Amino acid sequence: MEEDKIRRTRKPRKCPKCGSDRIASYLFGMPMFDEKLDRDLEAGRIVLGGCCVADDDPRWKCTDCELDIYGTEPRF
Ligand SMILES: [Zn+2]
Repeated sequence: MEEDKIRRTRKPRKCPKCGSDRIASYLFGMPMFDEKLDRDLEAGRIVLGGCCVADDDPRWKCTDCELDIYGTEPRF
C-alpha cells in the first residue's frame, strides 16, 4: 500500500490522477490566520494538514479529486 503513494520532487502543476490544476499546498502546524491565509484557503491554494507533523505527510493535495501527493524525501 505504501508504494501507491504518488511522489513528486516539486509541486506538480497538474494532478497526476485527474489532470486538474487545482493543486493546494498542505500547511501543517498552527497557522497564523490572517487575510492572506483566508484568501489562500478559499481559493484552494492551501489546505490545512493539522497540527501533528509526521515524517511523511503529503505535501500537496488536488482539491478536485482529493488526491494526496507526497514529496520524494522526508522534510527533515
Ligand atoms: Zn485530481
